Amino acid sequence: AAGVGIGENGWVLELLKTHFGYDAFLPLQEDIVGSVMAGRDTFALMPTGGGKSLCYQLPAMALPGLTLVVSPLIALMKDQVDALEANGVPAGFINSTQTNAELSQVVRQVRSGEIKLLYVAPERAIEARFADFLGTLNVSLVAIDEAHCVSEWGHDFRPAYRELRNLRRSCPDAPVIGLTATATRQVRADILSQLGLREPRTFISSFNRPNLSYSIVPKERDLSGLLSLLEKYRGESAIIYCGSRKDTEEMAQTLTDRGFKAEPYHAGLNADVRRATQERFIRDRTPIVVATIAFGMGIDKPDVRLVVHYDLPKSIESYYQETGRAGRDGEPGECVLFYSYAGKSKQEYFVNQIEDAEERERARQRLNQVISLCTLNSCRRRFVLQYLGEEWPDENCGACDNCVGPREQYEATEITQKVLSAVIRTGERFGAAHVIDVLRGSKGERILKQGHDQLSVHGIAADSPRDELRDLVEELKREGMLATSDAEFPTLSVTQKGRQFLRNRETLILSRPVERKAPSESRGER
Ligand code: ADP
Ligand code: ZN
Repeated sequence: AAGVGIGENGWVLELLKTHFGYDAFLPLQEDIVGSVMAGRDTFALMPTGGGKSLCYQLPAMALPGLTLVVSPLIALMKDQVDALEANGVPAGFINSTQTNAELSQVVRQVRSGEIKLLYVAPERAIEARFADFLGTLNVSLVAIDEAHCVSEWGHDFRPAYRELRNLRRSCPDAPVIGLTATATRQVRADILSQLGLREPRTFISSFNRPNLSYSIVPKERDLSGLLSLLEKYRGESAIIYCGSRKDTEEMAQTLTDRGFKAEPYHAGLNADVRRATQERFIRDRTPIVVATIAFGMGIDKPDVRLVVHYDLPKSIESYYQETGRAGRDGEPGECVLFYSYAGKSKQEYFVNQIEDAEERERARQRLNQVISLCTLNSCRRRFVLQYLGEEWPDENCGACDNCVGPREQYEATEITQKVLSAVIRTGERFGAAHVIDVLRGSKGERILKQGHDQLSVHGIAADSPRDELRDLVEELKREGMLATSDAEFPTLSVTQKGRQFLRNRETLILSRPVERKAPSESRGER
């Protein structure tokens, strides 16, 4: 784009230097600051660590009036404000943890213009009393942090966000900037409409984290695998995510018993314990934290070298966020996820417990995406970035197990014909597990009851290991030859494309990681 960047105005760079200590902008920061300063509504989508805060903190220093920051993280407000004050940025906050005296002091300082940057929780921001207060002030900018909280499709929906658009009534002339690190296309559209942004300028930076490597270990809760990983990173910081509070405690104990220094962290521990654990982690006293997803919100520890998912993450977005805590200093970070079909079933069980039908459906879709990530034969990085709405070239990323590990192409024509036929012969009324049982010639009760042992397809793939068939079914779904229903017990069906393949007897070449093949070959030809 043509035009003079705001960075070419010496005084902006000077503010950057004096108040924030930086010599240059990070990517997009300058454009975003420029948009806000020009009075435009703005939407900024940047990965964690991308430098979002500066996009409203710098304008706050440059604009004449107050900058209001809506932030959902009450626990972090005080730290944020203290850090700003230390840099000579006059800031304050209003939230429920304050005494009345503290509150009145902040109100006074805001009125007198002593405070340029005011942090407030969304629930407070939407109160009528607060709107009245705002109406009496000269507000230059409204910043809405963690803007994805406005969307039910996001991972931490906060109903109060829905009403933030009414803030406008108290300060009609102030531009609004929404910022987030998580937004799929759906959430992004929600943010723009629900926050009522007016002809917003949108800035989206790449979410790729080139210094992170990704791998999926096809084995659930593999303690010896985990131990050797931790051994590799001994003395450095690691986060292990587990699915339940109990699991984090047991795992921390197991690791301690094996000579690693590890502590649990979850929402069931009281605030002091959590704070102390967090503190020890940040200060490198405790290198390993075993946590539920409650850990890490807002934690900026730059040198985490390893992030392990010992259980499945809830969604691709959580996977991205959680792995994103590795390598924030730009040095390499390794992200390893342990996955198995047993883990999948366990999650499906939890999803089916969800009472609200719509919520259950959303959870199921999220889980299905995670499973696709785990069973993928192609680049994990590309899959995650595409899920986050970013196009990514179809090339070797050089740092995920599928791109790095040796792969081989193999002819899958015959086995695919067998699988598709079995789906058709069983009437397209069964899930993958049943179809695979039929293919492998199971004489199980369910098979006999359906009379499926009488089918011509019964036992036609008896030599193929179950895992291999499961992977193939996933691959055929991705190839668009098989489809699954979105029901509680999903059933497989053969698509148009699959039928065409059967009719035309086309040759099908697929690829797979080399190590997968070894076990089936070692069974030998019989
Ligand atoms: P986000 O909110 O997007 O996760 P932050 O605003 O916390 O990111 O910034 C991430 C890190 O980048 C912080 O450590 C911050 O100090 C640093 N940072 C921000 N802007 C710059 C800059 N222009 N130059 C160098 N470092 C920066
Ligand atoms: Zn890759």
